[in-house]
Amino acid sequence: MRTSVLVVGGGLAGTSAALFLAWRGVDVVLVEKHPGSSPHPRAVGFTARTGEMLRAVGLEAELPASRMAKGFGIRRVRVASLVGERFEETFWTPPSEVSATEYSPSTGVGVAQDRMEPLLRDKARELGADIRMSTRMLEFAQDDDGVTALVQGDGEPYEIRADYLVAADGHRSPVREQLGITRSGRGYMHTSRSVLFRAPLEEYLKDGIGQFIVDGVGFLTTYGDGRWVLMLDDREYTEPELREKIVQAIGRDDLEIEIITTGRWTISAAVADRFSQGRVFLAGDAAHTLPPSRGGFGANVGIEDAHNLAWKLAAVLGGESRPSLLDTYDAERRPVALLCHQQIFARNDGHNRDGELEDGPLIDNNAMHYGVLYRSAAVLGAGQDLPPAQLPEQWNGQPGTRAPHAWIEPGKSTLDLFQRGWVLVADHPQWEEATADLAVRYERVEQLELFGLSAKGASLIRPDGYIAWRSADLPDDPRAALEAAFSSASAGTR
Ligand SMILES: Cc1cc2nc3c(=O)[nH]c(=O)nc-3n(C[C@H](O)[C@H](O)[C@H](O)COP(=O)(O)OP(=O)(O)OC[C@H]3O[C@@H](n4cnc5c(N)ncnc54)[C@H](O)[C@@H]3O)c2cc1C
Repeated sequence: MRTSVLVVGGGLAGTSAALFLAWRGVDVVLVEKHPGSSPHPRAVGFTARTGEMLRAVGLEAELPASRMAKGFGIRRVRVASLVGERFEETFWTPPSEVSATEYSPSTGVGVAQDRMEPLLRDKARELGADIRMSTRMLEFAQDDDGVTALVQGDGEPYEIRADYLVAADGHRSPVREQLGITRSGRGYMHTSRSVLFRAPLEEYLKDGIGQFIVDGVGFLTTYGDGRWVLMLDDREYTEPELREKIVQAIGRDDLEIEIITTGRWTISAAVADRFSQGRVFLAGDAAHTLPPSRGGFGANVGIEDAHNLAWKLAAVLGGESRPSLLDTYDAERRPVALLCHQQIFARNDGHNRDGELEDGPLIDNNAMHYGVLYRSAAVLGAGQDLPPAQLPEQWNGQPGTRAPHAWIEPGKSTLDLFQRGWVLVADHPQWEEATADLAVRYERVEQLELFGLSAKGASLIRPDGYIAWRSADLPDDPRAALEAAFSSASAGTR
C-alpha cells in the first residue's frame, strides 16, 4: 500500500494532521491502535486560535456553542466543597489580561476530547483521509526516498510505504524513542488519579466558575455535558472509596452519581530536542508534553503543530517547494513549545503544585495565542532582537507572526482570505500586476495599517496565515521584489 503521508496516532494532533492534509488535497493514511476515542477525555479547553484553524476547514459551525466566552477565562475557586464555603479565586487568564480587543473571528470552545476527536475524524474522512482505527504501527524504517511501516489491524500485518511519516503517537512516542530523540525540560512532575462521573450538578455552574479546588479532596471540574472529573492523589481506590470522595467533593450525599470510568495520568513537562529526523516529524505530545495549566498549551499547541506542518508537506509533495521548507517546521514550532514550557512555570496558576517558579518575562495569554513569532527560512525579516511573543497590535504586521484579524464585511474576517495558497495583501495596482504570473493571489485589503503598511505597501501571507514578508512601501521594481521574497520564503522550485 502506498500513500504520501502516514500519520501514526489518532489523538487530537494526529487527527488534526490528517484533517489539514486532506483539506490540502494530500493523500494521507492515519493509523490508530484504539477503536475510538478514550472514554475518559482529557482536554476540554480549546482556544480561539484552534477555532480559527477549524474555521478555515469549515468545521467551526459544527462545534458546540461554548460556555467559555472569548478570552478563554475560566474561573477557578478554592472551596470546602462544591456546595460549601468558597474561598479565594484564581484564574487561568488573570482579569487584567481579559482584553476588550477582538483578536479573532473565532471563540474558544469547551468541548470534551471524546466529542472533539470524532468531529475532526469525520471531517478528515469526508475530505478523503483514510483513517484506520484499531490499527497499530508495529515497526518502521526510513530511507532516502520514503518510510516503510508495518501495521496491523484485525488481520495479518501489512506494509504501508509513505513519502513522510507524522508521529503523533503521544507523550511516550515509540517513534521518538526509536529515533533516539532526547527531551529537555522539567521532566516527570507527578502522577494523578481521576474518576469520571455523571451527576446533576449544573446548578453549581451558574456563576461561571467551572473549576473547584476542594480542600482535602482534590481538583473537581466538568466537561460541561453532565460529566465531571475529580482528580485525586495517586493510590488505588475501591469503588466505595471513590464514591465517598465524590460525595465529599460535592458536599451532598442525596444525588444519583454514575461512575463512568477512572484514569491515571503522568503529568510531565518535556520538549523533544528535535521535531524531525529525515522524513519523520513529531507532532503533539510526542514533540512536547506540557502540564495542563495556563489554559490549553497541551492539545492546542499540538493542533497548531499539525497546521504548521500540513501546508509545508503539501507544498513539497506538490513540487512547488523544495524539501528544505520542511526544516522550518522544527525551526518554528520547537521554540514555541519551549516558550510554552517556560510560561507554564513563569506563572503559578495553582496547577504547578510541584513546580518552582521560573524567572523570565511573563507573557500575556493573548500574546501566547495570537502573537508568537516564527523565525525561519520561511520568514524574511524576523530578527533575533525581537521578543518571542507580543500582542498583535504590538507586532503591527511583523513578518513571522499570524496575520491580524479585522472584519472586512459582516461575517468575513481578513483571516478568511488566507489558507488557500500564498496571498499578497495590498491596495495598489502595481502590486496586483506584480502577482500576475506567480502562484500568489492578490487580495485588496483596506485595513493596511493593521499590517503596518502604507497605502503603497504589501504583505506576503503564507498558506498558514502567517506573514512571510512585507514591503512597507512600493519598491522600484515591485515584481522583482515580490518574486525574490516568494521564491525565498516558499523555497520555491521555479
Ligand atoms: C487531565 C488532563 C487534562 C488536559 N486538559 C487539556 C485541555 O483542557 N486543553 C489542552 O489543550 N490540553 C489538555 N491536556 C493535554 C492534552 O490532552 C494533550 O496534549 C493531547 O490530548 C495530546 O494529543 P496527541 O494527539 O498529541 O496525543 P494522544 O492523545 O496521546 O494520542 C496519541 C495516540 O497515538 C496512538 N498510538 C500510539 N502508538 C501507536 C502505534 N504504534 N500505532 C497506532 N497508534 C498509536 C495512541 O493510541 C493515541 O491515541 C490535558 C491533559 C491531561 C492529562
